[in-house]
Amino acid sequence: SSWWSQIEMGPPDPIFSLTERFKADTHPNKVNLGVGAYRDDETKPFILPSVRMAEERIRSRNMDKEYLAIAGNAEFCKLSIKLALGEHSNIVDEGLTATAQTISGTGALSLGGLFLTRFFTGNKEIYLPVPTWGNHAPVFTFAKLPVKQYCYYDPKTCGLDHKGLLENLYKIPDKSIILLHACAHNPTGVDPKPEQWKELAELVKKKEHFPFLDMAYQGFATGDTDRDAFGVRHFVKEGIQFALAQSYAKNMGLYGERVGTFTMVCANKDEANRVFSQLKLIIRPLFSNAPINGAKIAYEILENAPLREQWMVDIKTMANRIISVRQKLHDNLKKMGSTRDWKHITDQIGMFCFTGLNPNEVEKLINDYHIYLTKDGRISMAGVTSKNVEYIAKAIYDVTI
Ligand code: PMP
Repeated sequence: SSWWSQIEMGPPDPIFSLTERFKADTHPNKVNLGVGAYRDDETKPFILPSVRMAEERIRSRNMDKEYLAIAGNAEFCKLSIKLALGEHSNIVDEGLTATAQTISGTGALSLGGLFLTRFFTGNKEIYLPVPTWGNHAPVFTFAKLPVKQYCYYDPKTCGLDHKGLLENLYKIPDKSIILLHACAHNPTGVDPKPEQWKELAELVKKKEHFPFLDMAYQGFATGDTDRDAFGVRHFVKEGIQFALAQSYAKNMGLYGERVGTFTMVCANKDEANRVFSQLKLIIRPLFSNAPINGAKIAYEILENAPLREQWMVDIKTMANRIISVRQKLHDNLKKMGSTRDWKHITDQIGMFCFTGLNPNEVEKLINDYHIYLTKDGRISMAGVTSKNVEYIAKAIYDVTI
């Protein structure tokens, strides 16, 4: 018999399998609100003009295909951490940040998880918000970091449960690792306001927690990369040490290129060098070194002033389209006379809207209306367009009366 005859069939990934169901559906009005990838108003993937321009420039240079260093493209890493912390960040200039290139945001989270499992001397447990991105728990469990939860979202208001969050993070053991979405929380689209970030920073200092910031959507929340970095930069200002995962999947539309960075904020330059050396010792057996192509594109955009300007325009194009379809979806539901309060559709930010639809209503949307979304009621606003918004609003109206 085979070595593998005893292997059981594993469950399909909930998001990828939703896309498979969508593809197999032949209904002309079918809509995919499951995927977390930006689409234009024609539901087509969007390649950013700034990315096209960067690719042209790279092609004209006929570059080689040599390996990167273990920690990746150092020049790109420098610009990446400056994008998060600011052009004139003291801690970057003083060499307090150890940054390595990773396999996009997921790879940054894994690398951070593995580093913390090996070296964190506080309470070696990571606390995730409820709800959170479906891959967080698997990533940290894989890194052998025990996963716990803290309260984040209030289903009653479809907003932040700020009080519950503070209470939970106060109750847990001192020096715990807490995962925070830096902006555009997935799946809820609910972020702390600046005042709430300040209270959170106070609590983190008091309890000596260690924040792991996941920044997968810088620019996507407000259309402005600086504004979206408020939380992260406030932590720096308050002298809090943290880990940071950055991804260029969404904000540069480089999904399949797998571009990201991991940063550990250290107390001094010598410590940063030592941390950096250990990050390299984890990367080497894990994936040896990161891929070259996406990092070249991201570097070109971050480094070249006209390209960077174009990128800011591209980010605004994406963010504004999403903001405008939020409004249209909300207005259509109201116009149809829905008695539910849909204000959270326009209050929430980023790529996703946590609609508050229950699993029953979600099933009806899929089976009767061919509108695909995850069971938790999350819809990707990127799948909503000026053409299908009325159809979606009518369907939501129908399943909620
Ligand atoms: N964190 C969050 C919150 C995300 O939503 C995502 C993408 N869906 C990621 C990290 C990582 O994505 P990627 O590996 O494609 O950069």
